[in-house]
Order: sequence, then structure tokens, then C-alpha cells
Amino acid sequence: MAVLEVRVPDLGNFAEVPVIDVLVQAGEVVEAESPLVTLETDKASMDVPSPYAGKVVEVSVQKGVKVSKGTLIAKIEANVASTAATPVAPAATSAAVPAAVAPAAASQPAAQPLVTRHPKAERHVQVLVIGAGPGGYTAAFRAADLGLAVTLIERWPTLGGVCLNVGCIPSKALLHAAKVVDEAASMADHGITFGAPKIDLDKLRGWKSSVVGKLTGGLQMLAKQRKVDVQTGTARFVEPGLVAVDDAQGTKLLSFDHCIIAAGSEPVRLPLVPDDPRVIDSTGALELDAIPNRMLVIGGGIIGLEMGSVYASLGAKVSVVEFMKQLAPGADADLVRPLEKRLRKQFEAIWLGAKVKAVSAEKDGLRVTFEGDGAPEPQLFDRVLVAVGRKPNGKVIGADLAGIAVDERGFIRVDKQMRTNVANVYAIGDIVGQPMLAHKATHEGKVAAEVIAGEKRSFDARVIPAVAYTDPEIAWVGVTETDAKAQGLRYEKGMFPWAASGRSLAQGRDEGFTKLLFDADTHRVIGGGIVGPGAGELIAEISLAIEMGADAADIGLTIHPHPTVSETIAMSAEAFEGTLTDLYVPKRK
Ligand SMILES: Cc1cc2nc3c(=O)[nH]c(=O)nc-3n(C[C@H](O)[C@H](O)[C@H](O)COP(=O)(O)OP(=O)(O)OC[C@H]3O[C@@H](n4cnc5c(N)ncnc54)[C@H](O)[C@@H]3O)c2cc1C
Repeated sequence: MAVLEVRVPDLGNFAEVPVIDVLVQAGEVVEAESPLVTLETDKASMDVPSPYAGKVVEVSVQKGVKVSKGTLIAKIEANVASTAATPVAPAATSAAVPAAVAPAAASQPAAQPLVTRHPKAERHVQVLVIGAGPGGYTAAFRAADLGLAVTLIERWPTLGGVCLNVGCIPSKALLHAAKVVDEAASMADHGITFGAPKIDLDKLRGWKSSVVGKLTGGLQMLAKQRKVDVQTGTARFVEPGLVAVDDAQGTKLLSFDHCIIAAGSEPVRLPLVPDDPRVIDSTGALELDAIPNRMLVIGGGIIGLEMGSVYASLGAKVSVVEFMKQLAPGADADLVRPLEKRLRKQFEAIWLGAKVKAVSAEKDGLRVTFEGDGAPEPQLFDRVLVAVGRKPNGKVIGADLAGIAVDERGFIRVDKQMRTNVANVYAIGDIVGQPMLAHKATHEGKVAAEVIAGEKRSFDARVIPAVAYTDPEIAWVGVTETDAKAQGLRYEKGMFPWAASGRSLAQGRDEGFTKLLFDADTHRVIGGGIVGPGAGELIAEISLAIEMGADAADIGLTIHPHPTVSETIAMSAEAFEGTLTDLYVPKRK
């Protein structure tokens, strides 16, 4: 074990900059590329990463001190293997990139020996990507753009994975249709009355499918333009370094220099629910084969609420049962309240703190019995939508046969470079952990491809935004207030109610609000939440502000266009700063 020094790198035009955060302490074990301290310049903040995996022996700087190029940050007792592998490979050209640029990180399970050209393989490929969802196709395209030869294996006939085929995109198309129905009806209060909507399910379904088709067809074209070799078949590991691909013609055995597993996730099934065509999951709900009279949604998370909203707007009597005491349990309770208020009017019932005890298939419907504090009497439904979460596909691809560590829930463990415990096998997207979101998968896909191509990259995004595309939408990013309280963070809040937003009122809505959380000492924004129509579009500004290390003044002094609901972000910052004029906020003592 060598003790190595980490010093402040070249700071460009800046001679001296303050340390605004110290992210490690002596005795802590760090991975290569994990940040040690955060420095701040006038314009941005930057993390200084540890070039080595190992144990922090000494931290030589404190929060608040100024440092310059060469200042000692920390001493690391580096793992020998990691230091040997530390020099970063140059950015790839079209030449082949050697396999295994670095071993698995320290926190990974035991590193496995590397197998590349396998004697049993019929074909050897440079980069093998398993699964063509947002993670897989992004990784494949990025790797191809970096000059690598890529083979992409997908079991479904179209590219795009869950997101494009049976997730994000079809659900948003149907939510758009639902919103038009609701907005048209709501205009009756403002002097414009439309007749009851006539819903042609075949046409609506056809439109939804055409949206999906445009995108998946586009991906096919993008793959072709990049010369990505797309193969339809189901991939599974059979032993270290060897993948079998099963298709209608039989089985092919492939070996690879590098493999990226992007096999995603599946809906969780409830064992107590019978195998009956009237029981559906999100994929079944998106097929939109009929509008049931009474529909029960089991699970009040984002997917359950989105699908429930669609069916309610199209005429079904929708009830939701949620085990927790709150809908959309990941979001702060105050953000969920306006949504719950609106859904209670739109849905037949919302039962919180209750769960399904049994479901029996009867001729007239599905009889559901409930238990828990908020449980109703047994009821009969025409359809039951199970939306209780998704489980990763880690256990169904035979990863264990290749020595790839998969945890008991089916997640594949990876380091910040998306590398598994097998040095030339990477994993990305839903299969590596929460949040199971498409934008996390695509970001990870780029990281994996760039690391394989020899770029100095790791997953260092500070935050991943989350959005419920309900009406109103809820969006949040960074630290939630619930987390801030639980972690005892010193934070302060700036809020702006949309009842005071001209744009929101002009859209006939007043229930939304925007809130920003700031570090009490630095006034940097650390989190934000928005509820209201279009919240999902607005949250990106707060994400960017957090990534850039913006403080309240940066946000408040940025001129926002008027009248927009984006102004409410600036006004929340002004409310915190005490400079807001659109509301009267008593001065903070
Ligand atoms: C109804 C619904 C709505 C959603 N809405 C949103 C949203 O609005 N925003 C958002 O960010 N996320 C949303 N999600 C989640 C999002 O779809 C996932 O997070 C995202 O698709 C994960 O991408 P992925 O690449 O990891 O995996 P997936 O998209 O799951 O793709 C995995 C691919 O791998 C293929 N595959 C699996 N096993 C094999 C194998 N053995 N061999 C070959 N191919 C294989 C699968 O067929 C699939 O195409 C939604 C999900 C659902 C179900």
C-alpha cells in the first residue's frame, strides 16, 4: 500500500479559490474518481476527485479555507491494483480499445478474472450491449460515435425498451389526451361549454401507437446510420466472457471485449392476485383495450396515478389503494396535497394506509378485500391494475454464471464508472438501481460507453429529477424537505404560490407552488419541488442551478420571461433573499 498525495489541480484563471465542501474524512475508504472536496470559482463549483481507490489517511483542508494550484488536499493509502490502473487511457480513436482499462472499484465484490476471446464463441465482438432501452441504445450509439464496433441485442422486435414501447412515451400520449378532455370540460366554468367527448378507442390507440412507432422507427434509422449491428434475440450469460443469444433460428455464442448490460426491469407481480385477463399491469393498461366501469389501481406511486388519471378522464370510475399514508411517497407531502385534492374529486376513492388482502375472480368482476387502518369494505371491480413497482432483470440474464455480482433483489452492483465486479462488464439503467428513470439510464449509458472508449468519465451528476406527469404535475430534484429534516441539514426555504402567478391564473389554475431549499450557510440551492401544470418542464432549471452550484442571488437575479410560471422559480429565490415584490413577505429577523 502506497500513501499518495492528492493536490489541487491547475485552476485556470484563478489563483486562489475557496473550499466550499469537504466530502471525505480520515479513515474513509474511497473509490477512484470519487470527489474529495468541492472548490468554488465565481462562475461554478468543481469537485476534485481522488485519482486512487483506497483509504483516506489525512485530509489537509477544511471548509472555508482558500487553496491554490498544488495545495495538498489529502493523503490516500492507495490500493496497489488501483494505482497501477489509474493512468487514464487516451480518448479513443477508431482503433480498437483494449479490454479492461481498470479493475472493479474497492467497494465491489471480489474482482473476477477477465475472459475476452472465448474459445467456444462463434463470434467475437468489440462492444456487446444487451437491451435496447434508453440505457442500452444510448450506450450503443455513443460507443459507435466514439469509433467502437457495437453489437446491440434486443429481445423485442423494436428498439426503445420499456420507455418508448410500454412506458414514458405511450403513457404521456394518453395523459395528453386525458388533459385535453379535462381542460375542455373545465372551460365550462369560464364561459365555453363543449359537448361530452366521444371517445373512439381504436383511433386513440392508433394515435398512441403511431407516436411510439415514429420514435422506435427513428431509433432503427439512427442505429443504421451509426452502423450499430442490431440483433433480435434474447441474451443470457452462460459462463465468464460468453453470452448465448437465443432467437428463432437457434442459439449463437458470442464473446466480447466489453459488455454493457442494459436489460432493464419488469413490473412486480402480486402473488395474491389471480391470473385473470381482467388483472393488468402498466403494459396492459397502455393497450387501452376497453374503458372499464370500475377500476382499482393497486399502488399510489407515479405509474399508478398516471394510468389512473388517464382512465378516469376517459370515463372509468377509478379507485386507488396505497399502503403508505401518502400518494407518490417519494415526494414531499406538501407537493402531493394539491394533487390529492384534485384526484379525490376526479377518482371514485383514494384509500391510504390500506392494502389489498385478497382478490378473487368472479363472473361479475374481481372481488377485492382490503386490510389496514384506511381499508374499505370488500368491493367488486371490472379491472384491477397492479402498479406496485418494478423489479430489475439482473437475475434472469444468468449474470451469476459469468461471475457478475447480483444482489438478492436482482440489481447488479456497479461503481461510478458503471463497471461491475467483472472488469470488462458494465451495467446501466433500471438494472443497477433506483431511481428507475429513463434519464438516469441514458446518462449512465453515456458514462459506460465513454469509459470503455478510454475517456476519463464517471457518474458524477449531483441530482436526478423526478416527475409525476399527473394533473397537476409534481416534480422534485435534489434534497427533499423530508430528507433534509431526516438528515438534520441546515436549510432554509423560499416559496412562491402560483395563486400569485399571472400566467397560472390566466390558465385557470391557482393550486400550484414552487419551493426552493437553500443551504443555510452558503445560500446555494440544494433542492426544489414544484406542483402545478407543467412542473415537469420547469424542474430542469432547478436541476441546472444545483449542478452549477447556483445560489439564491444567481437565481433571483436571472431575468425570467413574463408572464411565465418559470418566474415562480426566481420569485422563490427572491422570497428567500427578501427582495420579492410580487408578494408581501415579512422580513426575516
Ligand atoms: C408506464 C411507465 C411509465 C414510465 N414513465 C416514465 C417517465 O415518464 N419518465 C421516466 O424517466 N421513466 C419512466 N418510466 C421508467 C422508464 O421506462 C425506465 O426507467 C427506463 O425504460 C429504463 O431504461 P433501461 O434502458 O434501463 O431499461 P428498459 O427500458 O427496461 O429496457 C431494457 C430492454 O432490454 C431488453 N431485454 C431485457 N432482457 C433482455 C435479454 N435477456 N436479451 C435481450 N434484450 C433484453 C428489453 O426487452 C428492453 O427492451 C416509466 C415506466 C413505465 C412502466
